[in-house]
Amino acid sequence: MKTIFTFLLCLFGATTLLAQDVSTADAVQLLSKNKQALSFTSDDIQNSIISNAFVNASAGTTMLYVQQSFKTLPVFNQVQSLAFKNGLLVSAAGERLRTLPKLVAAIPAVPTVPAETALRTTLTAKNIALRHPLIATSAGAKTDFGKAGISHERITAELMWVPLQDGASVRLAWQVYVAPTSSSDYWLVRVDAHNNEIIGETNLTTYCNFHLSEQHTTASHVATIGTPPTINSGTAASTTWGTNLVNSATYRVIPFPAESPNHAGGAPALRTNPWTLTPGNATSLNWHSNGSTDFAISRGNNVWAREDRRGTSTSDSATLPAFSTTSPDPLTFDFVPDFTVAPTQTSPVPNQAFNITNLFYWNNIIHDLTYQYGFDEVSGNFQQNNLGRGGAGNDYVDAQAQDGGGTSNANFSTPPDGQVPRMQMYLWNGNPRKDGDVDNGIIVHEFAHGISNRLAGGSAQAACLGSAEQMGEGWSDYYSLMVTQDWATSTLSDGFNKPRGIGTYVLGQAPTGSGIRSQRYCTNFAINNRTYGASIPGNGQQHSRGEIWCATLWDMTWNIINQVGDINPNIFDANAAGGNSIALRLVTEGLKLQVCNAGFIDGRNGILQADQILYNGAYRCAIMQAFARRGMGFNASQGSANSTTDQVPGFSVIEGLLTFSQSVPQQQENQLVTYNNIITAGVCGALTNYLLTDTLPQNVT
Ligand SMILES: [Zn+2]
Ligand SMILES: [Zn+2]
Repeated sequence: MKTIFTFLLCLFGATTLLAQDVSTADAVQLLSKNKQALSFTSDDIQNSIISNAFVNASAGTTMLYVQQSFKTLPVFNQVQSLAFKNGLLVSAAGERLRTLPKLVAAIPAVPTVPAETALRTTLTAKNIALRHPLIATSAGAKTDFGKAGISHERITAELMWVPLQDGASVRLAWQVYVAPTSSSDYWLVRVDAHNNEIIGETNLTTYCNFHLSEQHTTASHVATIGTPPTINSGTAASTTWGTNLVNSATYRVIPFPAESPNHAGGAPALRTNPWTLTPGNATSLNWHSNGSTDFAISRGNNVWAREDRRGTSTSDSATLPAFSTTSPDPLTFDFVPDFTVAPTQTSPVPNQAFNITNLFYWNNIIHDLTYQYGFDEVSGNFQQNNLGRGGAGNDYVDAQAQDGGGTSNANFSTPPDGQVPRMQMYLWNGNPRKDGDVDNGIIVHEFAHGISNRLAGGSAQAACLGSAEQMGEGWSDYYSLMVTQDWATSTLSDGFNKPRGIGTYVLGQAPTGSGIRSQRYCTNFAINNRTYGASIPGNGQQHSRGEIWCATLWDMTWNIINQVGDINPNIFDANAAGGNSIALRLVTEGLKLQVCNAGFIDGRNGILQADQILYNGAYRCAIMQAFARRGMGFNASQGSANSTTDQVPGFSVIEGLLTFSQSVPQQQENQLVTYNNIITAGVCGALTNYLLTDTLPQNVT
């Protein structure tokens, strides 16, 4: 069986190999060579699935994501994130569940519950009505039921081992994947394959709960705004043709880096060829081509932005993009908005077309910018065409403007690499209503849910931000701050002097407000004093937990800025010397390095590892001072990542134990003796509150 399995691994690698991807054979060789460093046996390598393997150009490493398997079945979320440099292991996060063979000894690996039964159990639990008989198009350990008229994506049931209670027990389960057309959810539901009981679930849609009093309900995905759905004018005719025709385009938008129309620089303005901000591979196709088709609408290789007033995103013909008023080249998206009338108005004020154009522009800006920091094809970014550079294509962002599925919120769904992620932006309260599509900070926040979900545990793993402690909301706020900060005019003290809110525009607040957060982000503790604690907010209040994480990353960024004494005015240039670019590289690389299912301390450790790999540890103290100040010092413990009530906060910047040494030379009687007491400590910052007492022997005065 083992021999056959190895053969299958190699075959898989050979059929999907692209430039920058690493073949499974090479990956296995790398693991074998580093067996000792990994504490791997040959048996471990046989019982592994390489879920992602690629050359990570942004750090000069080879990344392997290795999932434990047993009897050829994967072990849910038991994934190790491994980085190699020059063939040697330089970073390892995660571990194998060594007790698994013993824990499953009494469990037959052949399910007694058929895949279809597990699927029906899931559909019943999630109130998803079947319209047709189910027909499995494949069988075995991964059964495919097609879309069955009820799902955006193919419904699958995959057999796997599922550890429970931090690995104290393990069950055999079908993981059912269904993205129902009746809601915004993308469900992974794990059903015990022997007793048909639901033992776990993950929703790949992140509902942001921006405004807790007005939560979006997932029960129905229909227009609830009260006014009839409206669409912008234009026709779908003559909006696509051959390729590489669009060399120039002009957009009226809330331009980068303004956070919203209310922020400095946020007045609607024209921008021409904004892809030129990012030279290189990020913009090989500019913004309106996928390599085979050019679009004269708000669509290209990275995003398809369109209204979804009906909230029925499955029907492409029911949604409309923004249309260029000129074609084929140059394109023009010059729609002049009036924020005193409804954002959905199409005529006489083309507000809807303006807002869709802005959503399109910002999705592309974020794609291009984060590409420079390592969210590229091999690591699982969002592109229709990956241009042979590795990773899986066919996954531009489906960006739905003015979505009718809810109000005063937004959400982002991140299926695994190769499946289309979806951004749903809602209208917010007010008269006229505010539109999330022009709150650029919220657009970045949503997109960044996709970044963190794709990078954590590798892009093939969809559920690696599923732990109770996970910091997804924090990363999203952080990317939002970083992308909408005006670095060209920032000074070294702005982290302390210029607090930042999130979503002030959609809440109708001034830019000086806190928006959808309890406190503004600021390195000044008098303004933001959020810290890691014994108990941190659980998933019902996930933004509160994310606030702690983002506040820490924001502190860290300004620490590094002040250490190097330099800010990169052009954040698109990831290799520039400024501390802002260094920090953004560290955070993005840290996501790749951290363990699947990370807690706060795991996340911190990922960033420390990134610093080691990228900068030889040059920013270790700047990082640790930020984390220690907010309770994640060297002496902190996260306990289980699956619990938010078992942490031990720690504020120490001292790593490990103090070591003491003394050197006393021999000396003649009545002569002076000089000697040294040396205390060695891994210390970031002054060593305070320590008293050294040296008691002299009786015959010494
Ligand atoms: Zn969010
Ligand atoms: Zn929708």
